Amino acid sequence: MRQDIKFTLGIDDIPKQWYNIAADSPVPLPPPHNPATNEPASPKDLEAIFPRNLIEQEVSTERYIDIPEELREAYIMLNRPSPLVRAVRLEKMLKTPAKIFYKREDLSPCGSHKPNTAVPQAYYNMKAGTEHITTETGAGQWGMSLALACSMFDISCKVFMTCSSYDSKPYRRFAMETYGAKVYSSPSGETKFGREIKKKYPDTPGSLGIAISEAIEMAVSEKNTKYSLGSVLNHVMLHQTVIGQELIKQLEMADVVPDHMIACVGGGSNFSGFSFPMLAKKIQGKIDTDFVAAEPSSVPSLSKGEYRYDFGDTAGMTPLLKMYTLGHEFIPSAIHAGGLRYHGMAPTVSLMKDLGYVRPVAVEQKVTFEAGVMFANAEGVIPAPESTHAIAVAIDLAMEAKRKNEEKVIVFNLSGHGLLDMTAYEKYLSGNMV
Ligand SMILES: *Cc1c(COP(=O)(O)O)cnc(C)c1O
Repeated sequence: MRQDIKFTLGIDDIPKQWYNIAADSPVPLPPPHNPATNEPASPKDLEAIFPRNLIEQEVSTERYIDIPEELREAYIMLNRPSPLVRAVRLEKMLKTPAKIFYKREDLSPCGSHKPNTAVPQAYYNMKAGTEHITTETGAGQWGMSLALACSMFDISCKVFMTCSSYDSKPYRRFAMETYGAKVYSSPSGETKFGREIKKKYPDTPGSLGIAISEAIEMAVSEKNTKYSLGSVLNHVMLHQTVIGQELIKQLEMADVVPDHMIACVGGGSNFSGFSFPMLAKKIQGKIDTDFVAAEPSSVPSLSKGEYRYDFGDTAGMTPLLKMYTLGHEFIPSAIHAGGLRYHGMAPTVSLMKDLGYVRPVAVEQKVTFEAGVMFANAEGVIPAPESTHAIAVAIDLAMEAKRKNEEKVIVFNLSGHGLLDMTAYEKYLSGNMV
């Protein structure tokens, strides 16, 4: 039997530390700014919404941060280490000489990479005495992951879900409720900001930016309540690096060095987790891998945004972050990849793009579903609409390798499965997708 199809690690290979790209960046990461003064924010400015232990991680420049044993054990429950798989049937279907590999983040109980940070965030909040956590969610992947994480550490969870997804993706809402969370359709009547938006734009599909504003407003106005973000911030990127550290070991087992590494980007967390441990080697000049960030052509923050300080939310309540942004008032169209509907990009990913280490590619929605259907038929997994962006780019590069007859190594992150996104596939299959 072929030994080069699946690369698995044992539970002792679950990383003992998270990797922090801030330590290896050739220029310092621009700090967050205070929203009122536009001066560098002090850690104190962040304490209204985040517990101190997570703020320490947010501002840390240490290369490695220890993962507590309790969390390494929790990662077992999340099905870590996740396998690296060679897409042999996809290669055959494409008749490409390229070798295509994918890292399976769809195998967690929530079906995506998001629990990798949800569980640590709930854990550190529990340690800090937090009783309630508020958050936002797009497609529901983040809300579901945080709902699970909060239930693990006996914290109550309140989720503002963008109304376009609240209506079109009820099953993730039911999953959140199964884990005991309270879910609001955003803009909601629960917050002052939500009520204002509803009045001004009664037909809005909602956005992550609006939902974040609502979750923050609730966190600062209610007792013993903190806010948790599923992407964008440094500590989120940090937690996700379990993906890329496992991947390095698996690439050694497969005896390959990737020519291309691809992940989709919404706020940048699965991309960072997957790429940054390898990208450190590129910064050190040891490898020449092409790191591709795949984004929707309708939300092209990295390819068309400006690199400047902007708010993370629509109301302008978050600290200002230096990032590629389409402007915090940009409301993305209601595409099916709800997790990619965000106006900005993680400051870490933005800096790496600015320094030329990351190449953004924007993909049309229909092209991504075409790739998703092809992948499902080749490899059996129905990918999340977000992940299909990475798959579309991987297929494109595999076809380029075919034209040039080059045996390229292409590795992409399968950030999640799409089994709760079947209405989107139905739209595509019935020819009703625009
Ligand atoms: C949320 C989500 C994304 C986008 O978020 P990032 O922070 O950019 O990773 C991508 N894929 C899936 C499956 C998601 O749930």
